[in-house]
Amino acid sequence: QLETEKFTFQTEISRLMSLIINSLYKSREIFLRELISNASDALDKIRFMALTDPSALSTQEDLTISIAADPETNSLIITDTGVGMTREQLMKNLGTIAKSGTSEFLEKLESAKGDVTQIGQFGVGFYSVFLVADKVTVASKSNDDPDQHVWMSEAVDDFVIAKDPRGNTLGRGTQITIHLKEGAMEFMNQDTLKGLVAKYSEFINFPILVWTSRNETVSKVPEKEASAAADDDDILEESLDKEETPEPTEQETRTVYSWERVNTLKPIWMRSPKDVSDEDYVDFYRAFTKNPSGDALTWSHYKGEGDVEFRSIIYVPSAADPNFFQNLAEKVHNVKLFVKRVFITDEFDLFPKWLSFLKGVVDADDLPLNVSRETLQKHRSLRTISKHLVKKSLDMFAQLAKQDDEKYTKFIKQFGPALKYGAIESNTHRKKVASLLRFASSYDPSGPTVSLDGYISRMKANQKSLYYLSGMTVAEIENSPFLEQLVARGYEVLFMVDPIDEMLVQNMPGYNGKMFVNVAKGVLSFGDEDGLDQDELDATTKYQPLFEWLKTTLANHVDKVVSSKRLTKSPMAIVANDFGLTGHMERLMAAQGG
Ligand code: ADP
Ligand code: MG
Repeated sequence: QLETEKFTFQTEISRLMSLIINSLYKSREIFLRELISNASDALDKIRFMALTDPSALSTQEDLTISIAADPETNSLIITDTGVGMTREQLMKNLGTIAKSGTSEFLEKLESAKGDVTQIGQFGVGFYSVFLVADKVTVASKSNDDPDQHVWMSEAVDDFVIAKDPRGNTLGRGTQITIHLKEGAMEFMNQDTLKGLVAKYSEFINFPILVWTSRNETVSKVPEKEASAAADDDDILEESLDKEETPEPTEQETRTVYSWERVNTLKPIWMRSPKDVSDEDYVDFYRAFTKNPSGDALTWSHYKGEGDVEFRSIIYVPSAADPNFFQNLAEKVHNVKLFVKRVFITDEFDLFPKWLSFLKGVVDADDLPLNVSRETLQKHRSLRTISKHLVKKSLDMFAQLAKQDDEKYTKFIKQFGPALKYGAIESNTHRKKVASLLRFASSYDPSGPTVSLDGYISRMKANQKSLYYLSGMTVAEIENSPFLEQLVARGYEVLFMVDPIDEMLVQNMPGYNGKMFVNVAKGVLSFGDEDGLDQDELDATTKYQPLFEWLKTTLANHVDKVVSSKRLTKSPMAIVANDFGLTGHMERLMAAQGG
């Protein structure tokens, strides 16, 4: 008697499943993408293991995904020869949620604000199978478990696991049998199925086979020749001998079944950029980021030659990931590393933190295949590749800045703070990164469009410094009394409105030999004055009693009271001294509880 054990799903999963099974999502075909993606991940895993332990493949040498529709049971059967799952893994992987963020996704789905096609990003892609199924059976055989097990669920609160009564039929891998629910029978249609598989398997690096039937009209041939066609060579010989084949006497239509390979296997990064369309690049971006509505601002398809051989495609996403800046300390999995077409890992740091918003793939030829991921991370070639790609990425930004103002402004709005972080962090790239920064300024308050080079090109002949003001918003700076005098005198003032700007000017005190000067601090000296002018001397004498009175009255609040050249319309202003904190910085620190 085989033991069947019953388990309850984690609450979130039950919620997710009842949501999925009771809904009428138009996009339910995406279950196929999710299952193919899981099969591909499982194949990646076994192929990676086989790098260090070739015997891992002995349980099943072929690495493929195959898909068949069984009209007798109204089921789809998806089989992969990947790493498979042990009994424990079936229980854990198909019963609990590993990824954080899933609950938020669930809440969005429940409030009908979520998009089910994003499911793959939340680590629960498997359950999308219930968009089309009312019963799912997963048989799996792992090298780490002597027995094949089956997991079965009818999308209620529990699932069962049992030793597979059919025995170890798989060798190694996973077979998912999907009993289609009423109304999802379109997925039995082989043309529909083949079209979808083609659509979702374009960037899968393993052969995907679909069980296909075809009606063929064949000539009835005499017995003995039919039996001679036992293998390929004989067929070849036979066709060479065609001349001598007797005329067929009868025609017959029969159904021929065969595995049809649906995808080609050339990875997009191995192709020549001139053979890849923009649409292909975007499709690939969506595929490997598992975000079907994602978009990229620009990309760089690059082949490194010389000291290291590699290929790469690096993308600038059109938007920063939610919480990207809050989560800078966390590991991102934005770059996939392949070695000679074999997927190795996405858990490595190709880029420094400040560039970790970039996404893409790198395929290296010079890396050893048979070392651990940790050793690989420290490998000299990988560091060289990383250096190349950092430079290449900065070139890509510069190129975008040159070619497309609108896109570049979008880029700066999303990733400007990351670049500033780079100008603070990177001694090597500070100058280049600084040239890529953009600010709003009195020249273009609608920015961020003003570059430091642009600012310098507009500087007055006698001007020695880069003037700036900090504030929470552009509007706040525009209302600042400090701005008046400078603008009146024809000076441009940079508007520092990013929280990171104060840190930037502290760590990068100047650019191209010009120092940043905060207009809200200390005594301002313009290059265009010749000592104190008469007006100011007069003012000092005339208002001396007022200054005295103010100084006594505000004794606990101000260091000194003086006449100023900064103001034209406002009667007075409070300024920080040269070494003091500006009001903006004080507020920032207060906000951080500092
Ligand atoms: P994700 O793929 O993001 O981890 P899924 O819900 O799609 O989330 O899959 C959950 C887990 O189930 C996978 O991480 C994997 O461990 C396991 N799994 C799913 N399908 C397969 C498969 N075909 N072969 C091996 N393991 C699988
Ligand atoms: Mg998945």
